[in-house]
Amino acid sequence: MNILNFISHFPDEQSCELYLKAHREKQGIHCKNCKKCTKHYWFSTRKFFECSICRRRTSLKSGTVMENSNLSLHTWFAAFLLMSATKKGLSCMELQRQLGLKKYDTAFRLMHKIRAVMGKRDNSYMLKGMVEYDEAYVEKAIDAKLKKQLKRGKGSQRQVIVAVAAESTPLLEEESEKTSRHCGFFRMKVIPRADAESVNEFVEENIDRKSVVFTDKNKAYVHLERLVETHVKVKSSESTANEELNWVHTAISNLKKNLLGIYHMVTERYIQNYIDEFVYKLNRRYFGEKLFDRLIIAAVQTYV
Ligand SMILES: [Zn+2]
Repeated sequence: MNILNFISHFPDEQSCELYLKAHREKQGIHCKNCKKCTKHYWFSTRKFFECSICRRRTSLKSGTVMENSNLSLHTWFAAFLLMSATKKGLSCMELQRQLGLKKYDTAFRLMHKIRAVMGKRDNSYMLKGMVEYDEAYVEKAIDAKLKKQLKRGKGSQRQVIVAVAAESTPLLEEESEKTSRHCGFFRMKVIPRADAESVNEFVEENIDRKSVVFTDKNKAYVHLERLVETHVKVKSSESTANEELNWVHTAISNLKKNLLGIYHMVTERYIQNYIDEFVYKLNRRYFGEKLFDRLIIAAVQTYV
């Protein structure tokens, strides 16, 4: 959906309410008392559903990301549009200005709630087939005084370690007989250390057991063959381009540009949320205007 469609579909609060009501009815309304989806009646003046069995009331926002928020649905929907309309991301100041929010903090919390929805949506998917794996070292925001005391360089306390995996299928180009690699879905998670334990945990949670995983020859990957069907170690260094790990390295470089370019420095506490937004958009890079439609569906999905 583009901005013109948005204006005609969602001109006011009522249109957003009608959309949310229709979507929730289609999905089935879960009663917390009966602990299942039951038939509900809609009370249009007070705007709530009532369970036909136990008469428990459920508000329109209940169970969705918008629950406990004082912001109007119209503001939320406009935030979904703004966050999905930009490929690279939007700064919090910009969102605050565009939505006319009085407080920076309100915009900040709103954006992080939407990022959490994006992360949750992607968490349900396991990477499969041929998968590239490596780690990214991302600079984090730290207090200037403390920064001087910390070491520089790869793996220092100034950085956050991010596990990065990408589905990557080799394709043979008939004319040149060269193979190129086509990328599918990506996953990125902050991990505590770049050691075997942390890497294994990431692989178990994010990569299907029947996959073929490509990594460099780092010692942290010695036990990966137990977790996946085949583990292929390829020779790689930062200075030489490596075809087998091309997509993870491209994604790492774009992630760093994204985080530095739009958000400058990000604190460790929120870095996973920014990464979730980056990966959500990366995984839906061919969606175009449909990104808004997908995001709104993910966001109004109840957490039952
Ligand atoms: Zn009930």
